[in-house]
Amino acid sequence: NVLIDVKNLKKYFNTKGGTLHAVDDISFQVKKGETLGLVGESGCGKSTTGRAILRLHEPTSGQVIYKGEDIVKYNNKQMKEMRKKMQIVFQDPYSSLNPRLSVFELIADPLYVNKGVVPKNQIEERVKHTMELVGLEKRLINSYPHELDGGRRQRVGIARALVLNPEFIVLDEPVSALDVSIQSQILNLLDELQEKLGLTYIFVAHNLSVVKHISDRIAVMYLGNIVELTEYNKIFEDP
Ligand code: ADP
Ligand code: ADP
Repeated sequence: NVLIDVKNLKKYFNTKGGTLHAVDDISFQVKKGETLGLVGESGCGKSTTGRAILRLHEPTSGQVIYKGEDIVKYNNKQMKEMRKKMQIVFQDPYSSLNPRLSVFELIADPLYVNKGVVPKNQIEERVKHTMELVGLEKRLINSYPHELDGGRRQRVGIARALVLNPEFIVLDEPVSALDVSIQSQILNLLDELQEKLGLTYIFVAHNLSVVKHISDRIAVMYLGNIVELTEYNKIFEDP
């Protein structure tokens, strides 16, 4: 029941100070339908791990086996196809959304980039359906990001990630930039969507309290490595 099998994944960056082992050597599996929380202090490599799995950062070495196939070996065309199934929601919905695009254009964008997934004459319907899924009011369809509050902007970010019907989503600190009062709304939404759509998540957070309710298992990272990987409820048990 494993959806993703990450084997000896490494991501090094060349910096002025030398080679930085942002992801030193990590292996773990993500089961279909689960949420794996990826936690650890800022700079330990969580975000790089999430991006390397999607090849938004090219892994230095290692394998990312998705349903039995190593997608690190995929060429651009195969990867473009794969990206429909693997999406990401970014931390700051403001800086990750193009301010010149309307809500409609932002959510429809992945459909235009991936031509043929949804026939042109059904794009509007798909966008409206996705807005409804994420709880965005219909009247906002022609609004722009600056006209929305943080929670609604993040709903647009989530809608972009959902519009192609993915199986797997990396949530990269999806509530960290939001007001505390809105965080629980977005967490509840993510939980509901997972249930309804059968999604698998990697949930990146620097704060354990954010992921504790939603995660089935937690991986703790430290300096580019996973130092603990356990069922959520075991993490607080005495050894
Ligand atoms: P986290 O998500 O846990 O805060 P990151 O994965 O963002 O950590 O970063 C891990 C390490 O890699 C940090 O030291 C960070 O500065 C470095 N890093 C991240 N992205 C780059 C990059 N594009 N170029 C160079 N170093 C990077
Ligand atoms: P930039 O601002 O440099 O374009 P982004 O972080 O927006 O960088 O995107 C980096 C890469 O991630 C790009 O190749 C882009 O196509 C891809 N990308 C952007 N949004 C998503 C998403 N929701 N799911 C999967 N890939 C995405």
